[in-house]
Amino acid sequence: MARYTGSSCKLCRRENTKLFLKGARCNSDKCAFERRPYIPGEHGSGKKFRKRISDYGLHLREKQKARRTYGVLESQFRKYFKMAAKKTGITGENLLQILETRLDNVVYRMGFAPSRNSARQLIRHGHIIVNERKVNIPSFAVNVDDEIIIKEGSRQMNLVQEAMEAATELESYEWFKVDKDQFSGKILSLPKRDQIPLVIDERLIVEYYSK
Ligand code: SF4
Repeated sequence: MARYTGSSCKLCRRENTKLFLKGARCNSDKCAFERRPYIPGEHGSGKKFRKRISDYGLHLREKQKARRTYGVLESQFRKYFKMAAKKTGITGENLLQILETRLDNVVYRMGFAPSRNSARQLIRHGHIIVNERKVNIPSFAVNVDDEIIIKEGSRQMNLVQEAMEAATELESYEWFKVDKDQFSGKILSLPKRDQIPLVIDERLIVEYYSK
C-alpha cells in the first residue's frame, strides 16, 4: 500500500479527532479540525459526523486513528500487532509501546521536532544519532538506556530550535529524560500505558485484528 500523501488535516477530520500531525498549527486557531469539524470531501461536505456507526466501523476507526497518529502503513501496523500479540503482557499495551518506541515518535516526544512527520524527515536526512551512530530509519526501535542526540551540525536548524523552544512539558514524561543544553535524550524505561498520552481505546484495535 502506498504512503498517504494527501492533507494531514483531512485525516483528523475523517477520524473526528485531533491527531496532532502538524506541530504548532494544531494548537492554533488555524487548525482545520476546529474550523471545519465535518467529514472532508464532496460526500461529507457540510455534514456533521454520522451519529451511528456499526460495530465494525467503531473498531476500524480506532485502528485507523492509532495508525494515522503514528504515521504507519497498514502492513507495518499489522506486523506490529503480531509482534505485540506474541509478547507477554497485554496485547493492546504492547502495541502502543512498540509504536511509542519508534525512533520518529521518540524524536517528536523529546521535543526535537514539531511533529512525527518532521521527525521522520530529520531522521531520514541523517540528523539523528543513536548511541553514537547515525540512524536514518524512522521505524528504528529504541530501547532502555539508548541515547538519542541531534547531530552537532544540525542543532541550529530552525525546525529543531523552534520545536525545542515549544517543548515545555518534557518533565511530564517519566520514561525518558531530555537534556536541552546537550540536544540529547535518554530512554529510562519502556513506556507504560498510563505514560502514553494517547486518547484511544486499544482494546478495540485488538478486537479488530482478532475477528
Ligand atoms: Fe489535525 Fe493538526 Fe491539522 Fe488540526 S492542524 S486538523 S490537529 S493535523
